[in-house]
Amino acid sequence: MTSPHCRSCGAPLTRTVVDLGRQPLSNAYLEPDQVADERTYPLHARFCERCFLVQVDDVVPPEEIFGDYAYFSSFSDSWVSHAQQFVKTAVDRFGLGPSSFVVEIASNDGYLLAHLVEAGVPVLGIEPAANVAAVAVERGVPTDVRFFGLDTATDLAERGPLADLIIANNVFAHVPDLNDFVRGLGALLHPDGTISIEVPHLLCLVRDVQFDTIYHEHFSYYSVLAARNVLGRHGLKIVDVERLSTHGGSVRIFAAHERSGRAVSPAVEHVLREERDAGLDRPDGFDGFADRVAACRRGLLDYLVSSAASGRRVVGYGAAAKGNTLLNYAGVGPDLLEYVADRSPHKQGRLLPGSHIPIVDPSRLDRDRPDDILILPWNLRDEVVDQLARARDWGSRFVVAVPEIEFIG
Ligand code: ZN
Repeated sequence: MTSPHCRSCGAPLTRTVVDLGRQPLSNAYLEPDQVADERTYPLHARFCERCFLVQVDDVVPPEEIFGDYAYFSSFSDSWVSHAQQFVKTAVDRFGLGPSSFVVEIASNDGYLLAHLVEAGVPVLGIEPAANVAAVAVERGVPTDVRFFGLDTATDLAERGPLADLIIANNVFAHVPDLNDFVRGLGALLHPDGTISIEVPHLLCLVRDVQFDTIYHEHFSYYSVLAARNVLGRHGLKIVDVERLSTHGGSVRIFAAHERSGRAVSPAVEHVLREERDAGLDRPDGFDGFADRVAACRRGLLDYLVSSAASGRRVVGYGAAAKGNTLLNYAGVGPDLLEYVADRSPHKQGRLLPGSHIPIVDPSRLDRDRPDDILILPWNLRDEVVDQLARARDWGSRFVVAVPEIEFIG
């Protein structure tokens, strides 16, 4: 393989953050008859010494990544309430009303924009997955089925108003052509408009060993330092940053046109300083990370093997992408984790990619009353423990495995 180059600045990538081996796509849930055709790809995260972006090698054909997208945002309660709060704050902060125009990129099933529609604000969703977009349209959220980039932005700017607010929350990590995407943001943004970008924060990924958030569909892992570099390349500047607890620690970055003359909040320099202190602008900031990842794998295997040996029944909860990175890196199969329960009917009856662990309806837990329930999406642990409060009456324990095995008391 030729040496990979940075998707943001083009520099050669020579520094490994962690090599997670060959893995299938983490969202490629399988029908039982598809197991024989499963493909795997190297999952290798690297650090760019020039612009500080962490990224995985570009090795998967795009049609594989975007072909079958089973994630519907509305299936997570905490996510829907996060969106509601975001909209409430945005309406006040940006004075949004009937004469404003808000565009959301990767608007999913419209769960966020629906709140703006309710508030009487004109909106447009951009969503490439037709099945997901159809749900949005049904609930009254105008949605274009397409990918976002400079072409889409130029087309929209010719047909309608420029956007006062562009919401690009939790999409930045999934953008294959980052520079085209950011150019598009600039082209669609009103001269005085604002872009809201939410991304999982690299600072938290490194600090808390959140290596299971690394998967092929997740191309890039941002510090504010790295985001500033790519935005600045296209005439955009960061005017404010907020820290969020979502996804194990995220940042919400507000950006505007460089030429807008907008004031920059002191919060921006504060976060940048914290990132520099953590070494996110230097390769040695990632020293020891791979060893901590390996220790997490050993901890999970020790726990599962000793549970099996002592006859304790362990099942999983939450068929999230991050669980697949963890299980496949650790080599866990149905012999160690019998099944994973998930509320999404789109996943039930299928198998987790790689590990081939069956996905079942959560009602199965009520019948089986397992000894331990391993919560794979640890970022939703409180929500899951609430949903499954009845399991405590059966004597079940709740467990998370990242960054290390922890029994939730
Ligand atoms: Zn770079």
